[in-house]
Amino acid sequence: MSKKRKYDESYVKYGFCCMKESDDVEKPQCFLCGKVLANASMKPAKLIEHLKSLHPENASKDLEFFTKKKAQFSKSGTLTKLGFGIPQKPLVEASFRVAYRIDKSKKPHTIGETLIKPCALEMVELVCGLEQRKKFEVIPLSNDVIQSGIVEISCNILKQIINKLKASPFPFSMQLDETTDISNCSQLLVFVRYVSADTISKKNSYFVSLFCKLQRQMMF
Ligand SMILES: [Zn+2]
Repeated sequence: MSKKRKYDESYVKYGFCCMKESDDVEKPQCFLCGKVLANASMKPAKLIEHLKSLHPENASKDLEFFTKKKAQFSKSGTLTKLGFGIPQKPLVEASFRVAYRIDKSKKPHTIGETLIKPCALEMVELVCGLEQRKKFEVIPLSNDVIQSGIVEISCNILKQIINKLKASPFPFSMQLDETTDISNCSQLLVFVRYVSADTISKKNSYFVSLFCKLQRQMMF
């Protein structure tokens, strides 16, 4: 049987605590991002490598900082302790921005995974190096993530328009138009014209569902 590495309390200063599995094998878990490494990585060099490449902003912090972080981590929910990392805020924002651009340019949402991410990874590796590439690899850009991002963004835009229409000091005008797209699916276009912050705004929205939602929610 191969030798199993044991956790040492001093690893806290590298940002790692210990996770024990049912078979009693200890694994190092980063309490900054929740990632669980293999038992074979339970040695200072590997732990420092993770700290420096994924959390460079914390690499030179003192022991007090890490002890505090560890205490926060052990108080947090079960999911993080099981290794389900909570995506960091900039990663989520990056993912949303990509989803927004894909949607705005009317491209298929699958290009996040098939084109944008591979391109970004290659560019960053060539220009900034392998270490920086690792940071980009964790940006969530899968088909499902982009699709749900687009849905969330469009719901948010709809909410914003409705709020602006409600806040408009004057009645707004609405114009409807109908068209059929290449897949023979009928589309309804809705244009609204309203006063917002002393200027006249014009917004158009496609899709019948949006119109129905508008109609329902506009019954003040
Ligand atoms: Zn980490």
